[in-house]
Amino acid sequence: MKRIFFLLCVLLLSACAPVPITGRKRVIPPMPASQVNPMALAQYNEFLKTNTLSGNETQVRMVKNVGARLSEAVDRFFDQSGTPELKKQYNWEFNLVENEQMNAWCMPGGKVVFYTGIMPVCKDETGVAVVMGHEIAHAIAEHGGERMSQGLAAQGINVAGAVANEYFSKNPEKTRDLVSMALGMGTQVGMLKYSRVHETEADKIGLVIMAMAGYNPQESIEFWKRMSEMSKGQAPPEFLSTHPSHDTRIENLKRFMPEAMRHYDSKNKF
Ligand SMILES: [Zn+2]
Repeated sequence: MKRIFFLLCVLLLSACAPVPITGRKRVIPPMPASQVNPMALAQYNEFLKTNTLSGNETQVRMVKNVGARLSEAVDRFFDQSGTPELKKQYNWEFNLVENEQMNAWCMPGGKVVFYTGIMPVCKDETGVAVVMGHEIAHAIAEHGGERMSQGLAAQGINVAGAVANEYFSKNPEKTRDLVSMALGMGTQVGMLKYSRVHETEADKIGLVIMAMAGYNPQESIEFWKRMSEMSKGQAPPEFLSTHPSHDTRIENLKRFMPEAMRHYDSKNKF
């Protein structure tokens, strides 16, 4: 009996590993990457089939350069945290598509898409790093998987392996809805987005990642001021609609800045 209790504790503890960088303890463990990533990949491939890649070489190069530096920083972060095996969960890809919306996202598993509409707000590589750091942060904090397990738990479905698998194979429609909801791509009416907790967390993790990649995290404040200016009088860009207001966000970023700057300073010593 004691042994079973011990095993249960170990299982629960390992399933509820805290979120990297912020250390937040989750109430419900995220759906495992082995289940989430193939679903995300299918949706990503579908998206690429129905959208046009940008032919603007300068901007494409910018997105891919930043992607290479940030993903290298993520690898280094996993190595330094003693969790190098997590690197295998990501198969990074960075694309820019023709679309006038101010939008960008990163699927669980590391597929990143920028829309041409956000490039004028980004302005330069550092601006791209602000947005991409935030989006990549959603992926490495497994927010998509967490949304999925929350969605299932709300319907009384256990997220532990076999039960969830059986549920997916028996309910393909429901599964698709759940994936769309969890990924929060915001391309269809009625989709849920990431929660406010996830957004603030992604801001913090994003700052650390950009700093580790050698981009000055203080530039994020300038980016959000530009965003606030350029989106004035318009409906908020879709990927921001559940985000904190620009002012709240800038306040939060200032609070996280000393920690992010430590990563930037130590990076600059090399
Ligand atoms: Zn976000």
